Parts: sequence; C-alpha cells; structure tokens
Amino acid sequence: MPARTSTDWTWRYEGWDPEQERLREALCTLGNGYAATRGAAAEAAAGGPHYPGTYAAGLYNRLTSRVAGRDVDNEDMVNLPNWLPLRARHPGGAWFGPATCEVLGYEQHLDLRGGTLTRRMRLRDGDGRTATVEELRLVHMGDPHLAAQRLRVTPEGWSGRIEVEWGLDGAVTNAGVERYRDLDGRHLTAVRAGCRGPGTVWLTCRTTTSRIKIAEAARIRAASAGEAPAAVTAVDATALRASAARHGEAVSGRLLLAAADGRPATVEKTVALHTSRDPAGGHPLAAVLHRVRHAPPFDQLLASHRAAWAGLWRQTSLDVPGEPGRVLRLHLFHVLQTLSPHSPGLDVGVPARGLHGEAYRGHVFWDELFVLPFLNLHLPNISRGMLRYRHRRLDAACRAAREAGLPGAMYPWQSGSDGREETQVVHLNPRSGRWLPDNSRLQHHVGSAVAHNAWQYAAATGDTAFLHREGAEMILQIARFWAHRAAWDPAYGRYRITGVVGPDEYHEAYPGADRPGIDDNAYTNVTAAWVLWRALELADALPGRRRDELSERLGLDRAELERWEDVSRKLRVPWHRGVISQFDGYGDLAELDWDGYRRRYGDIRRLDRLLEAEGDDVNRYQVSKQADVLMLGYLFPAVELRALLDRLGHHLDDAVWTRTVDHYLARTSHGSTLSGLVHGWVLARSHRAGAWEYVHEALLADVADIQGGTTGEGIHLGAMGGTLDLVQRGLAGLEPVAGALRVDPVPLGALPRFDLRVRYRGHLGVAVTLRDSRLDIEVPASGQAPLRLQAADGGLHTVAPGERVTVRLPGR
Ligand code: BGC
Repeated sequence: MPARTSTDWTWRYEGWDPEQERLREALCTLGNGYAATRGAAAEAAAGGPHYPGTYAAGLYNRLTSRVAGRDVDNEDMVNLPNWLPLRARHPGGAWFGPATCEVLGYEQHLDLRGGTLTRRMRLRDGDGRTATVEELRLVHMGDPHLAAQRLRVTPEGWSGRIEVEWGLDGAVTNAGVERYRDLDGRHLTAVRAGCRGPGTVWLTCRTTTSRIKIAEAARIRAASAGEAPAAVTAVDATALRASAARHGEAVSGRLLLAAADGRPATVEKTVALHTSRDPAGGHPLAAVLHRVRHAPPFDQLLASHRAAWAGLWRQTSLDVPGEPGRVLRLHLFHVLQTLSPHSPGLDVGVPARGLHGEAYRGHVFWDELFVLPFLNLHLPNISRGMLRYRHRRLDAACRAAREAGLPGAMYPWQSGSDGREETQVVHLNPRSGRWLPDNSRLQHHVGSAVAHNAWQYAAATGDTAFLHREGAEMILQIARFWAHRAAWDPAYGRYRITGVVGPDEYHEAYPGADRPGIDDNAYTNVTAAWVLWRALELADALPGRRRDELSERLGLDRAELERWEDVSRKLRVPWHRGVISQFDGYGDLAELDWDGYRRRYGDIRRLDRLLEAEGDDVNRYQVSKQADVLMLGYLFPAVELRALLDRLGHHLDDAVWTRTVDHYLARTSHGSTLSGLVHGWVLARSHRAGAWEYVHEALLADVADIQGGTTGEGIHLGAMGGTLDLVQRGLAGLEPVAGALRVDPVPLGALPRFDLRVRYRGHLGVAVTLRDSRLDIEVPASGQAPLRLQAADGGLHTVAPGERVTVRLPGR
C-alpha cells in the first residue's frame, strides 16, 4: 500500500503508485522563483502517469484555438523543454524504471530544509539484474539559472557496464490539464539542439507569438565509486525519439560506466536555463553554455544551494508541532519556491497555481490577497515586487476602464504578461462536455485586493516612499474607478454597483436574465467603500508637492473627492432576514436540497457542474462556491469591519455577524480551496466551535488533493499562503496598522503552541511564542526605537529592544 510519511523536514512517499504520480509530481516540484520543475521521473517522457513540466515565472505565450465554434485566445505559462532526461540500464537491457522493471522498493522524498528531491528505487530488469537507482535533484536557490541531478546506480549481485542516457527534450507541449485538451498547446518552435565538446549538450527554441528565446544546456560528468568525476568522451547528439520531429526536438548523449557489485556508478548532470526575458539577459545560448562550463561540481552546488535555503528558512521561521506543522512547512516551501528573493527582479505576479502545473494557465488572480500578508512580515521585498507587477500594469487597467466607459483603473480578474484581461470567454464543464460562457471576468473586486495589498504592505514596512508613489497611483485610480462604477439610485437613496460577480463564482447572473452579473455584491461594495475611504485618507496624507503633482496628473479636484466621500458612505449593502445578503435578491433564490444532492453525488463541491450537467442552473439557488460575504471577516479585523459598516449606516454586532456566518456556512459547497481557509479563520476569530474542521480541511487541500485531482495540475498557492497567515494573522492576531503592530490573539484548541519570528520594520527576528493561553512577544536587542504594539482594546504599548511582553488569550 503506497503511503506518505514525513518527519519534520521531509516529505516522503513510499511505493510506486501510478495513480498518485501527478499529485506527487506537483507536491515534489522544485523551484527557485525564477523557474520550477515538477517532481517527475527522470526516465520518463510525458504520457500516462507522467507529466514532467518546467515553467519559468512570467514566461507566457498566446495562441488562438477553435473551440465551440469560435476562436478563443489564451495566454499560457509555457511548458519549457524538459531538462530531466537521465536514465540507466545494463547495455542491451531494459531502462531502469518502474514501468519497465519489477519494482522491489520505491521511495521518494523531498528534503524541505535543503530543497532537494531524492527518488530511490530497487529494481529488477527482465534479465534478472537487480540494481538500486537513486536520483538526487536540486533547482538552485542561490543561482536561479542552475539545476543539477546526481544519478547513482548500484548493482546487486553482478558487475559490469552501466549505460547512461542523458539529454534535453524540446518535444514538449502544454498538455498537463485534461480539460484544456481542445486548446492549442504548441507554444514552442524553432527547436535546435547540438553538442558542444565532450559532455555538453544544448537546446534552443522560442515561443511562437511572444517570441521569447529559451536556451538550456546540460553538462555530464561521470564518476565510478571512489573516483573523482571524469569528463565523458563521447556524446551522441542524434534525435532521441522518432515523434520528436513533430513539435520539436531532443538531444541526448550516452555513456558507459564500469560498475561493480555493491559499488555505485555515479553521474552528475548540471543544467542551465536562460531566456530572453532575463534582465541583463544578453544571448541565452551563450549564457547557458557559459554557465554550465563554469558551474562547480555537484557537491559544491548542493552546499551553496542548501546555504541559500538556510538563509530563507531563517527569515520565515514558523514552528507548529505535529502534522499541522509539517503541512505548514510544506506550504511555506512551495510559497518560497514560487516567490523567492529572485522574483522581484523578474516582473512577475503571484500565479494562482504556483509554477507547479498548467491549471489556470499560470494566470494571476486575486490570490496574492492570501499570500502577501505572511510575506509582509518576513520578506517584504517580495511583496513589493508583486505590487510592482501590478503597478507596471496600471496603464493597462486604466485602458480597460476607459474601454468600459469609466475613469480610473479596472484591474483584470486574470492577468498574465501585459495586464490585459486574460479570463477565458468560455469554459468546459467536464461533466456535461459543454463549453459554457464564462463571466467570471466581472470580478472587479480584484482591484480592491490590489489596493488592500498595497496598503497592508505599507503598514507592515513603513515604506511611505512606495505608498506615496506607486501605491498612491494605484489606490487613487482604483478608488476613482469605484466612485464612477457606482451609480446613484434614488429609489434606494444609495449608490449601487450592478452587473458584477463576487468571490462566489457560482453566481454570474440572475436566473433567466439576459445580462450577466449580479447587483450590489456585499463584498464588492464594502471593499469598494474601504478603498474610497483609504484613498481619501491617503490623498490627505500625501506630502503637499506630491499631492499637487498627482492631482494635476490625474485631474483630481475637490468635487471628485467629495463624490468619493459620498459614495464611500452610501454604497448599498443588501440585507435579508437579519443577515448581510451576498447580493441583491440573494434571499429570494431557491433553497437547494443539500441532503438529497449529497446522497446522490457524495462529493458536491462543484455543484455548478453537477447542476449544469442535469440541465439545471446553480444561479437559481442560495449556494456559494466559497466564502463571499464572510471574506469580509477574513480581510478586516472585527473592529475595522464594524467601523466600516457603521460608516455605511449599518450596525454590525456579534449577534448579526454570528447569524450571517451561520447562514452562509450552511449554504457553501467549498468548491475552492480558499473556502475552508476563510471559514476556519472566521470561526476561529469569533471563538466559535468547528473552526478546526475547516482549518484542517485547508491544511489538507493540496496534500490530500481534496478537490479531487486538481492538485496534480498545480498547487493552490492562495490556500497554502493563507494557512501560513492563518497562524500569523488569524491566530496570533498580528496585523500591521498605522504605525503599530496590532496583536489580538485567539485560541484554537488544536494548535495550542507555535513559534514564529517576524520582521516588523527595523526589528528583525521578533519572537512570537504561543503557549496555551499566553502569547509572548520578544523584541531582539538592537539600536532600533521601541516596537509599538496595539492591544485588542486599542491601547498602545511600547516594547524596547531586548524586552518581552505577554498577552493573555481571551477565554472562550
Ligand atoms: C476561485 C478563485 C481563485 C481562483 C484561483 C477559483 O477557483 O474561485 O477565488 O482566485 O480559483 O485560485
């Protein structure tokens, strides 16, 4: 029975299980923020259980495909040539691998501390030769253009020659997501390959429409037991596979090694990747050849790679005991492999599925809302880099607004290379086989997330230079968009925002309506009011010259600011039966027979697909895919949410909030991995029972693939980052506010102890320790000014460097 076991710092799978292979590939991905490669078998090409995929952050290509009788444009994160090919056999025998040999033992483990993947197999080939084959792999965290593999083959009960084949495979397409099979996935062209002297091969290609040049080179060194690595003398650069000629090519080399019973034969393969997107890139082929020529031997690369990881772990320390802690560490590992200190230099955003697979085509949604708060208090430069990605696309967002007849900035729901809207116009329901219109692009609330992230980053870091420059430009333009997107409705005496989609993607239109979108989504309206309020505050706080300059550039005058003020106080928030309505008319929708559907289908997370396949429509029901109204309780601390609603003329007390939470809890199918996280968060923050059940679900989301097959197509970065923030902001209650760090911890029975170290402004390594009912905060000795803490009651305390304070947790 294949099983997964793990120690604190390793994530281990035992047994060969083709069914699980794609999930393991995603979870065993290695990356460094610049690029990542799925944890696929080095001896196998794509097909069956295997999907080797390599993706470089921000490297997209656009293709047009004909689906459902129309041409659709899609921009995809491109699957790059596979650099993994490396396999061994006894000459003339079968290549060692689980598909071709008898498997006597199989394990693979991810060493999180050192950032390496090891796959160890004991195999017997058709001629009865047994060998242990072990591959150790790294994607260098210090030098993001390098990766390396070390293959060891140890014969058991025989001696002789070992033949090793190694290479680079450019015959790859984007074919990792079954649902996208009708879309063109041939993004690479002009594949050329060759060898450069003994022991080095190279491959170049470019993307078809974005015309990005890509180059890879691989160098092989061989060492038999006890010997120093030696150069290989013969390289065979002929095409590896007959099929390769169709879409691209491959290059491979072979070498023969002497191996003796019980003594390993070893090869080391070093790989370089460059693209014409690289800053200071120059010539990608020259760059990769130079890099592999000068790369140090494997052991040195391993040591410098581990040292780079050690530095990252020091800056992100988060220790939670037991299984939750192990899962959290895996989440942190994948967040850091997607967004690393290399990322800010690359002009990339936060891809919803990491660099781990092709789901959602590598697009950037609102998921940074769940990822950046954790990073703000550890690696704030990464957050700033992600905000700059948005700022560079502010012009595109303003253009989109203009095309919609509005001033200000309308950020796209899905963003890729240039910031235009990348949301697909049709999507496939795999249950019914029908292509359906996709209106999720109406999720304009993504703009409020951008503004919120910029504000939070500035509060955490005190980076007013950023807030007053890029931050202000984005926040003011987003506020302006909302102020004009909202229209006065005299019948209600309120401003209304109509024709949108909220976070719950199940509601894209009113039942039977001929126009898309729903009206007055509470989350959209309340967050828009928040943006307007903050924008007014910011406009006021800007230094005089900067304010004048921006007002002039944006044409902002007093009348406009007055409108912002008015809209921010009078946006409509709909209610029904004493709870906040998800949107206008939500309370009139039909109730679903939840028990009946559960009985009939078991897993009803994707009720939208089930209902459509039955000829019904999820829009008819009070059913949410994920937290929508309750997102307000995730985004805003209770006091802030109360103040915000109060400003909008509504009273929100504990009883109202409890009723609202209960209402939606009973009507949410959790069809997004973000859902369990937010529900667990909201329940924990309100000291409610049942929180752990949802937090637990959020922890399992990827490791147990609870959405049924989606993790193999890429991890869910928002849920991973969100669980880290759940400990930091949700449970420890650490939230940067103007000039202070608010601390307002809440208990969660299943996580009674944890330790984290955060960076707050000039204070590095502030130790935050939870032990049952007390939270200690210790500020390390330094020459910094005292840290300002804001307690739950609003009281301010200062903690001098070298001192510690204790906060008692409230009882239940
Ligand atoms: C969720 C969105 C999310 C997206 C990417 C969707 O399933 O509904 O909220 O942004 O996935 O993670």
